[in-house]
Amino acid sequence: MATITTVETPKTTPLPSPFATEKTNRLSDYHLHTEASFDCKESIYNVCAAAIKAGLREICITDHYDCGYDVCRSTLEASYPSIERAAMEFGPELTVKRGLEVGEATQCREDERYMLENYKFDCLLASLHNIRGNGDFYFMDVLKDPEGMIRKYFEELIEMCETCDFDVLAHLTYPLRYKAFYGIKDLSIYDKEITRIFRLLIDAGRGLEINTGGLRIREYNLLLPTEELLKYYKSLGGEIITFGSDAHEAASVAYGFDRAVAAAKAAGFKHYAVYTDRVPALVEL
Ligand SMILES: [Zn+2]
Ligand SMILES: [Zn+2]
Repeated sequence: MATITTVETPKTTPLPSPFATEKTNRLSDYHLHTEASFDCKESIYNVCAAAIKAGLREICITDHYDCGYDVCRSTLEASYPSIERAAMEFGPELTVKRGLEVGEATQCREDERYMLENYKFDCLLASLHNIRGNGDFYFMDVLKDPEGMIRKYFEELIEMCETCDFDVLAHLTYPLRYKAFYGIKDLSIYDKEITRIFRLLIDAGRGLEINTGGLRIREYNLLLPTEELLKYYKSLGGEIITFGSDAHEAASVAYGFDRAVAAAKAAGFKHYAVYTDRVPALVEL
């Protein structure tokens, strides 16, 4: 009679986690791009796998929908069904929410309306990558009046908050991470505009994103918005925040979330938000 030997199961090595504590394993990344976006080559499957590896509880896929650009509708047609497929395949291990990064909605109402009338989302990000009549800040070099351009940016964001339909304002200080604006250190000259934006968000029950994309730019290395502005938003009564890595590759999923969480806590936040059918729910930090 053959002897049955039991082989001890080898102990599995835990996956490396970017998070220091167990609590932060329950974070959610609400700003992620996939190959449906014009500037991203990563598959949604790699993004989801990276989110699981990072220990996230939930993600929201937010491909670009830059209103007024020809590609926006075809991007949405590619992105939306891929999110639904990923949600089926990765649930319940990872919750995958239907999102979109709606850019420049102030500049093409028709594209904004098309998206709202034809699709159902869990969370819509609003962003502004270029002010009316100008190219993306990303491509700007030396400018005559960078301060004036940032003022126009904030003014268009006010218009966005007043007239567009969205849930969370993405990367509030987006242009500042680019070299044309590195000279602007003191944002107090925009107090009036920033206060107005925060009040509009708070009054409408909308959220503010803590975007960690700026941490991947070595020369910038700041959160968007900064911890100081987060404190100001909180002092005005802001309660709803989301975390977004703005990852365009799997390796950046949840990037810098330890710093984002530390900044949120330092500003007095005890919760962050997740969304279902465009309704926020708070999760303990
Ligand atoms: Zn963006
Ligand atoms: Zn983005």
